[in-house]
Amino acid sequence: MGRKLFLFVCLLALFGSGCVPEDRPPRRRAIRVALLQGADAVTLSSKGVLTLRDTRSGKTLATARRARPITVRLAARGLNLAGTTYAVRSLRVTGSSNEISFNGKTYPGSLRILRQERGLLIVNLVDVDAYLKAVVSSEMLPTWPQEALKAQAVVSRSFVFHHALRNRRKDFDISSSSQVYNPDKRDARTDNAVDATRKIVIFYRGELLLPFFCTSCGGFTEYAANVWQSEGRFPPPVRCPFCRECPDFRWQVRMSFGELRKKLGSAGIPRARSIAVHRRSASGGRITALKIECENGDRIVKINRFRMIMGPNVIKSGFFDIKARDGYITFSGRGWGHGVGMCQRGAKILAERGKSFKSISRYYFPGAKIKKMRW
Ligand SMILES: [Zn+2]
Repeated sequence: MGRKLFLFVCLLALFGSGCVPEDRPPRRRAIRVALLQGADAVTLSSKGVLTLRDTRSGKTLATARRARPITVRLAARGLNLAGTTYAVRSLRVTGSSNEISFNGKTYPGSLRILRQERGLLIVNLVDVDAYLKAVVSSEMLPTWPQEALKAQAVVSRSFVFHHALRNRRKDFDISSSSQVYNPDKRDARTDNAVDATRKIVIFYRGELLLPFFCTSCGGFTEYAANVWQSEGRFPPPVRCPFCRECPDFRWQVRMSFGELRKKLGSAGIPRARSIAVHRRSASGGRITALKIECENGDRIVKINRFRMIMGPNVIKSGFFDIKARDGYITFSGRGWGHGVGMCQRGAKILAERGKSFKSISRYYFPGAKIKKMRW
């Protein structure tokens, strides 16, 4: 093989695989978080002076004085700012106090407003540590042990870095719903967990891991591939006897068959007659698919879809049994969430028993390395 061809093949292997190798650090510190998509109008305000610029030319189009709201609307050919329409596609919004209030919350950093076919896209450009401090305090209670909060910080950092590297050419890195991001919830204890684990992330087999997490695994964590088909390389599941010590470990939902039939019908599964377990995972017995007998034939429904139809906080996990009696169906389950990766309730118990954030991370991601990443 010629030297140039060899180099080309190496580069293709490195960048074409969609993987994130250890030695390729990202070039920026700001994270682009999508706060809202498809809006017709947004109203912004700030404690300082707001400046709205055309992203392309840098020209200032409007300013708003302290605490004075300004509305940006989608126009037929551009964007309307406080009543005046400009032929622009994107705005950069900055506040002199480095914060902007929008939709009832106050965000650090700046905003970008993009005009898209389906409406306005609002993106928050925020320093990665400020983002993580808001995420960790939204995803875990600040009163939980410090080592559990640190484990969450490491998981959330790896999660957002992975998205930032994968979505470099897109309009945003991550959505505010992928990890709950509420800057108004910041707390000194969760801030400390982020500062104490600065730049520390999780690698698995030489790649930055996309480390999923769930509220409570129900006793066993799950193969990522059983929940989302294929998510690349992911550590194997583990037994977790810890989350059962938490009060909401078990759940039960009882509903009439008519109600179940109605919900399935509105999701395109009409005239259901019965429901049964179709397949369980070998890892611990979590349901991966259900068989729904309908008047026009059987339907195999994947567990994620079923939970979305019924409501993810109604059918809290795929770990359940079904009983039908006297026209009623009872779902008796354990755990909360998809079950893949770190069990947050389990991490809390492990931290209470004196385990460090590193050993908690290694427990839920067996074979993983916990180390610093340049950013
Ligand atoms: Zn667990």
